[in-house]
Amino acid sequence: ATPTALLTGTGRGAQLGILIKSAEVLEDTRTVDTVVLDKTGTVTSGRLAVAAVTPLSAWSKDQVLDLAASVEDSSEHPIARAIAAATPHRFPVSRFVSAPGGGVRAHVADGMHSRSVVVGRTTWLAQNGIRLDDTQQEALRRAQGGGFTTVLVAVDGALAGFVDLADTVKDGAREAVDRLRELGLRPMLLTGDNGPVARAVAAEVGIPAGDVVADVSPEGKVAVVRDLQDEGRVVAMVGDGVNDAAALAQADLGVAMGSGTDAAIEAADLTIVRDDVRAVPTAIALSRRTLAVIK
Ligand code: ADP
Ligand code: MG
Repeated sequence: ATPTALLTGTGRGAQLGILIKSAEVLEDTRTVDTVVLDKTGTVTSGRLAVAAVTPLSAWSKDQVLDLAASVEDSSEHPIARAIAAATPHRFPVSRFVSAPGGGVRAHVADGMHSRSVVVGRTTWLAQNGIRLDDTQQEALRRAQGGGFTTVLVAVDGALAGFVDLADTVKDGAREAVDRLRELGLRPMLLTGDNGPVARAVAAEVGIPAGDVVADVSPEGKVAVVRDLQDEGRVVAMVGDGVNDAAALAQADLGVAMGSGTDAAIEAADLTIVRDDVRAVPTAIALSRRTLAVIK
């Protein structure tokens, strides 16, 4: 391969809004056969909106939302931004902790009370000693059945309510999946979100339910990529979040959405500058053509 030809490839990539970390990356891109897509922020817009707040026991909607927003104010996650945008009220917060792919927690000074507030998925609540009883489990299943991303809010060690968030599939996501398949690649969907939402999004873009992996932690995402590699697959992983960074590094080809976090961009080999997933099949087609010219 002559360096000039490779640089022409990367230059063309830049025109198409694809930033390539090094010319050698094109070589890996060419051999990819499986493309694992993160859901939130990659296939969906990641611009979530609060659709409903369901308070439990003696809590009110406003209390649940205001306590959650006070904690989420310190997080950059799309879920956090949606919850923070849903109410202007904030209480002072201390001892904020963020668990990527799990949720957040902090102490919130709500007037006279100092409360411990935990927001996130069931496993994160469990890590904080909060377990759901059968009635609460059932209420959660009902909430998730609606196709929303549902996060749990616990106050002082007990579940206080649910927040349902709505997201939309990006323009061009369906077309991107079609084009990946036309290139002979197997598109898959990988997410820390719950199964019903993941399968609904997958159906919308044309990924079969058997190629959807939901409810996975950031370490779980790495394991999914590694398992595919152990099966002999050459894996591209496309993601945007801190929670995707380790999986992007594990993949044979890591692709970051330019709208994503610095951690994802640093871990990736390629960055899609515009927020358009169609650039992924374009990059793969480009690398095949570039190398065809060189060889
Ligand atoms: P995805 O894989 O879809 O990009 P993440 O791995 O970032 O999603 O998050 C997985 C799940 O963890 C979310 O669906 C949510 O339940 C929970 N979660 C993560 N971060 C937060 C947060 N800041 N607030 C509330 N819940 C969160
Ligand atoms: Mg994401």
